Amino acid sequence: MIDFKKILKEHGIPLSLQRIKILEYLHNFKTHPTADMIYQALIEEMPMLSKTTVYNTLKTFTEKGILTALSIFENEVRYEYNTVPHIHFKCVKCNKIYDISKTYDCLKNEELEGHKVLEHHINLKGICKSCRDSEE
Ligand SMILES: [Zn+2]
Ligand SMILES: [Zn+2]
Repeated sequence: MIDFKKILKEHGIPLSLQRIKILEYLHNFKTHPTADMIYQALIEEMPMLSKTTVYNTLKTFTEKGILTALSIFENEVRYEYNTVPHIHFKCVKCNKIYDISKTYDCLKNEELEGHKVLEHHINLKGICKSCRDSEE
């Protein structure tokens, strides 16, 4: 069981039930949801929740380094509770984004044509395992 209160405290973020619920949701669902998806998922349980709160909370969490914001593949930002570098694989059939845990620090801290690399992201597209299985 993860102590979300402790995580908020450690990052200097004031405690609130909404903040904890948003963090808990992202921890439980590794689907890289958008702010809107998170809002839709939590509104039943918390009718007082506003979209603005969700957006602001996600922004704060990202700035504090608790979450990673992904603006890959589409014009929408998706969030995840995973700040360890990994590869993203997006299925063109079911639109799911999968995490592939493979380290790829080969270019980190390297200089490329005078530019210093701090991080790099690998985003792959293809047909996921479960879509391939159902095709056969
Ligand atoms: Zn798929
Ligand atoms: Zn991911």
